[in-house]
Formats: sequence, C-alpha cells, structure tokens
Amino acid sequence: MTFTISGTGISRGIAIGRAQRLDDGELEIYEASIPKELIEDEVVRFNHAVQTARQQLKAIRNSIPETTSADITDFIDTHLLMMEDSMLTAAPIERIRHEQCNAEWALKSQRDELARVFDEMDDPYLRTRKDDIDHVVTRIQRILIGEKSTATPDDEYLLQDAIVLAHDLTPAEAALLQHQGIAGFVTESGGPLSHTAILARSLGMPAIVGTHVTPQQIRDGDIIILDGFRGLLLADVDEATLKDYRRQQRQQKKRQAELKRLKNEPAVTMDNIPVNLLANVELLEDIRAARLFGAEGIGLYRTEFLFMNRSDIPGEEEQLGHYLALIKSMKGLPVTIRTLDLGADKTSSALDDYSRPNPALGLRAIRLCLNNLDLFCPQLRAILRASAKGSVQMMIPMLSSASELTRVLELVEEVKQQLQDDGLAFDRNMPVGGMIEVPAAALSANLFARKLDFLSIGTNDLIQYTLAIDRTDDSVTYLYDPLHPAVLKLIRMVIDAGHRHRTPIAMCGEMAGDPRYTRLLLAMGLRQFSVPPTALFEVKDAIRQSNTKTLSRLIDILLVSDDPQQIHDAIDTLNAIQ
Ligand code: PEP
Ligand code: MG
Repeated sequence: MTFTISGTGISRGIAIGRAQRLDDGELEIYEASIPKELIEDEVVRFNHAVQTARQQLKAIRNSIPETTSADITDFIDTHLLMMEDSMLTAAPIERIRHEQCNAEWALKSQRDELARVFDEMDDPYLRTRKDDIDHVVTRIQRILIGEKSTATPDDEYLLQDAIVLAHDLTPAEAALLQHQGIAGFVTESGGPLSHTAILARSLGMPAIVGTHVTPQQIRDGDIIILDGFRGLLLADVDEATLKDYRRQQRQQKKRQAELKRLKNEPAVTMDNIPVNLLANVELLEDIRAARLFGAEGIGLYRTEFLFMNRSDIPGEEEQLGHYLALIKSMKGLPVTIRTLDLGADKTSSALDDYSRPNPALGLRAIRLCLNNLDLFCPQLRAILRASAKGSVQMMIPMLSSASELTRVLELVEEVKQQLQDDGLAFDRNMPVGGMIEVPAAALSANLFARKLDFLSIGTNDLIQYTLAIDRTDDSVTYLYDPLHPAVLKLIRMVIDAGHRHRTPIAMCGEMAGDPRYTRLLLAMGLRQFSVPPTALFEVKDAIRQSNTKTLSRLIDILLVSDDPQQIHDAIDTLNAIQ
C-alpha cells in the first residue's frame, strides 16, 4: 500500500524513478590475520581494488561533458592523483606484508595514520585534505568489501535517472549528482534556503529536504514518486497513483511549454511599468538556462561555486577567464558579479576552518574576504579587469557596518590604481553595490543607499538573521516566513531608502523568484527581480498580470498589520485580483 513521507518541497517539480540510497555512513572494517602463504594473494586483491577504483573514477571523469565547470572536474582529478600516490598505494601493501593483515585493515591503518598527521597540521587548508583521503579510501574499501548496493556521489551507473535518498547533501555533491543524471533527491536534513536547495531550484531539479527519516522499507530500485510541489515522497505506489502523477508531470511540462511564449515578451505590468527581470546563476548550466528563459541580465553570480569541489583556490587569471565567459555568453547584457560569499553552508576545502562554533555568524562572506586580502584582492582585480569587456557590476555580500563598506571601497580604489600601474584595462566607473542581508544593514539602508551604486536585498539571509532561524536547519523550517511583519518592514525600509537616494534596488533572494510574492513586491515598489532561471517565466507571467495602481492602494493596509494571518489573507486577496 502506498505510503507517504513529508518534508519541505524545495524545487517545484515531480520526479518518478528508482530509489537509490546514497551512502554517507561509515564503513565497518574488521582486522583479520592472513596466513603467510596467502599474503601475496592479499596484495593482488588490494592492487586489483585500487585499479578498479581508478577505472571507475576515470570513467566518471570521461563521461562529464566538456562544458562542465572546472570545479567539478578538478575535484575528480584530485582524487585520481591521490590514487597514484604511494602513501595510498604502496604503503598499505607494506602493511599487509609486515603485519600479515587483510587489505581492508591495512588501508584503514594507513588512512588513520595519515589522518593523524593532517590533524596535527596548523594549516587549515592542509588539515581539510583529510576529507579527500577519506573519499578515496572509502571508494577502495567498498570495492574490497564488495559492497555494491549503495551509491557514492559519483557512481554514475547507479545514479542515472534515480531519485537519490541521502541524509544530507552539500551543494558540491548536489552539483556532481546532477551531472550523474539523477532525476531528483530527497534528504533527511536541510532547509528550503540552504544552498543545496537553491542549487536544486536553479537547475530545475525536483527535490525535498527535511524528511527526518527515509524508512528502511524503501529499497534501492523501488519505483518512488517525488512531489516537489507538496514536499511528498511516495513509495510502494499503486497503479492509479502512478498514473495520476504521470498525468500531473505531463501537465507541468505543458504549462512550461505554454510559458515559453513569454520568452520574448517584455516584463511589463498591465499599467505599463517596466520591470527588470534578471537571473541568479551559480554554474555554467544556469548561464545557459538564463539565456534560454530570456533573462535581461545576471542579477547575481554566486562566485563561491568556483571555489567549491576543489583543493586549490582559483587565481586572478582563472577567475578572469570565468567572468569573461559569463560576459560572452550573456552577449552584452549586464552581469552582476558577487564577491566571494563562502562560509556557513558554502564550504571550500581549500579554506574552511570547521572549528568555528557558529559559522553563519562568523567569518563569512565579506568578513572572510576582508580578513584574507590574498583571497579578496585577486578577485577584485579579476572583476575589474572583466569590466573592461562588458557591462559588469560588482556586488558585496553580507555587509553589516559602515566600516566594512569604507574598507571595501578603499580596496577597490587601491586595486584600480594597481591595475592602472600594471597597464591593465578596466571600467573606471564600474558600479559597486551591496547586498542587504542583515537586519543591521536594512536598518541602515539610507547609509548604504547613499554610498553605493545599487543595492540588492538577499531575503534568504535577511529572513535567517531577522527571524533567528538557521536556514539549513530543518527543525526550524516551520518558522521560515517571508511574510513575517518584521521581514516586510525591513524590505520596505530598503526599497524606500533606494527611492529616497535614487539608488536602484533589486531583490535576489528566493522570495523574488516565488510568483506568490510578485504582486506584493511590485506593490512595495520593487522594480528589479533576480530569480533562479527556472522561475523567470512564472514571475514574468505574474508581472504581466499585475496592475501596480490597483496594488498600491492595498499595500498600505497590508503593511501596517502585525498579524501574520491577516497578512497571509491579504496576500491571497492581492493575488486573486483579476
Ligand atoms: C540571500 O541571502 O538572499 C542571497 C541571495 O544570497 P545567498 O543565498 O547566496 O546567501
Ligand atoms: Mg546571502
């Protein structure tokens, strides 16, 4: 009989496919002593496992399209290189021979010794190399144990068209899984605003997070249904349910096809107010999608994705190459490049120091950059150099105080001077804007609006910090509410400050991409929306069916209310206006 598990649907879509668990648990490795005469057989068994692991990785590497961002391929290359290293290939053989133990135990002992050495290192970058060693060792161990049923993030064969069930996924893993051709994913933990969720939305991949459990009754290979609209996972489904979901899937495709007619239509309201409709992008796929769905430019390029899934930091030239590629693909349309927003759930093994007690409130985003100018300045140089070749603006994430802003603007001037001394071209007037993501910044919006060329409201973080709910923690997802009176007041303050200082105000948080809020935001005076590419048509549709004159008459009544239910009801009324 059909049974249902509910979580938070983070990406609007339906997937029907084979269940495939993604193993993220520890393997149990036992020690066994090997009789002298069988030692060389054990060595052969170990060598064979390493060889198979290499072949698996090479096959994955070869199957990744050339257009895939370097971050993903670099991640696999690093693991391939490790598999050539004698520390992981020759040293375990020595152990098998000397300790007369099984291959699994020899590899485990070698891994533990390496992990101890890495743990003792002062350099946080080197310390985190341990994760890569674990990935490689686990792959070899699985072959030795003969475990096949559970997939790892790069088991391409098992993952093709599957619905992945995992405890949790990092954004990096989600990006990799997408390349393995999964149909969707379901995680036990995670919230709707985690970067993994954002990525799934961006890629148009159906997904559910925060289910808390994935019952053992669901076995790998079972046909399951993922309903991203309602946040439901259905298993053991009967024919009638399956048929109904297939029909819904077809309807969804039909609606998408109908919306396609909007591609070349302007984003303009019924009373002829033009709205600037831009796209948020992370990966190369999104840039293509942004073009496909008719974005008028890029309102948010999350550059931190260039820093993920790799063991080194991309330098100035490499970054410049990415920014120029972005400019070229957008064919003259404006692009907003956000400076590095690493930290909290966006981690880079090249940088992170995981020991911080509360990373969302720690050295994240611009704080991290101002504390690490070797990281920040090459990015400033690369963005400025890119500005010579197209319509580029730079955006600073997570500003909270005037002193940070002053320091950033000083650094921009210093870098401009250096570039000039180096004889390198840049746009002297490249606009510099900031994100309003922290209540302190929203409350000081006048200051930021006065000193910056544009502002963009990052509602994902603004809601997180205003309502004190960790955006990655599913236990507080129920408190997530873009319509909370406090959030609406802050958004209104920022938009008003922009009008007062004639500073353009955009919104690039997920709220901007949800058509349920389009009319509300238009009524509040927002005229620039930056949304995941897959949301462009829906939002454009909502814009084209809105009349700002009618809406603005209702908005003042709505915004004085402190009663959340009244606000929700008022939004329903607003959205029902024909
Ligand atoms: C936001 O916080 O709303 C935002 C757009 O930035 P990110 O989701 O990357 O933190
Ligand atoms: Mg943010």
